[in-house]
Amino acid sequence: MTTSPAQARDAPSRSPEPQRIAGVLHVDLDGRRARYICHRFGCPRPVEGPVTAAQHGAVELRAFIAGVRDAHRAAFHKETDR
Ligand SMILES: [Zn+2]
Repeated sequence: MTTSPAQARDAPSRSPEPQRIAGVLHVDLDGRRARYICHRFGCPRPVEGPVTAAQHGAVELRAFIAGVRDAHRAAFHKETDR
């Protein structure tokens, strides 16, 4: 097996640092279903939802979309913007 020296060594300045994507809110079904996928390592609840307008109601769906990021961070990661 051959190993390229350039790949075998760490290249601190060139290796792309992965973007810190903490979580992604997915809204589909024409805005009638939403779920939040958390990408933090070791997250105790990596998927929130799905919340659907049909099952939970439009009000709860809107609240979920508006607040799930902050609610999730506060509940599971003790993070806040302020
Ligand atoms: Zn999380």
